[in-house]
Amino acid sequence: MKGFDYKTDAWIQWCPGCGNYGILTALRNAIAEVEIDPKKLVIVSGIGCSSRIVYYIRGSNVHTIHGRAIPVASGIKLANPDLMVIVAGGDGDLLGIGAGHFVALGRRNIDLKVLIHDNAVYGLTKGQAGPTLPSAVKLRAMNYPNSHEALNPLLLAFASGYTFIARAFAYHVKPLKDLIKEVLMHRGSAVIDILQPCVTYNDLMTRDWFEKRIYYLDSLPNESELLQKMKEVDRIPLGVFYKIEKETFDQKINSIMGRKNKGVRNV
Ligand code: SF4
Repeated sequence: MKGFDYKTDAWIQWCPGCGNYGILTALRNAIAEVEIDPKKLVIVSGIGCSSRIVYYIRGSNVHTIHGRAIPVASGIKLANPDLMVIVAGGDGDLLGIGAGHFVALGRRNIDLKVLIHDNAVYGLTKGQAGPTLPSAVKLRAMNYPNSHEALNPLLLAFASGYTFIARAFAYHVKPLKDLIKEVLMHRGSAVIDILQPCVTYNDLMTRDWFEKRIYYLDSLPNESELLQKMKEVDRIPLGVFYKIEKETFDQKINSIMGRKNKGVRNV
């Protein structure tokens, strides 16, 4: 199958030029290349512009409530380990109201893939500051500069215990597609922080702004450089930062309960 075969008839309701389009194309193509049966695919989202992605890809997808995509996805995966379960949502949804669930997923190492559509604003509700917006920045829809410090999704994921941590740029569709493929093949809690310009409300972090700052990591950072790479802000590294193999939640539960691990593989 090709990415096109995973298209639905739903009208795409994103603003022209939104970074979400690049993520949609990359995700469809990655799913096609890994040959995931739409009957075994579940994309779970919360609330926000990006969360509408569940209507644009064929699968048994679920549009849940704000901040709760991860617990819903966790239940689906644990009840049906043969399914490929992907969580998609904005930084506001996953790292604001959903932050506790984001941390819990890392601690459990459930085999879920989290795609953060990171645009630093709440686009659906007209451009308020999101969790990843730098402090003191004032965007076009804000009356005053941001009074909060920015949250770093990579550091939070690392501290929480995620076993695959990466960052990508929404307009670089091919590298993003390759990264999503790698995440789909990983077993455990995986996250890609996808820098996704909101062309309507984030008038600072535009495509040009990112293109001047981003660069690709040559290789997986070693232990001594990992945190420094994750913290970089003047230049913004992209690629895989951290990747380990570790017992997943279902394997651990099986061993605690004395059951035989089935060695479930999604794809
Ligand atoms: Fe995309 Fe922003 Fe428009 Fe939402 S408001 S669809 S994030 S450009």
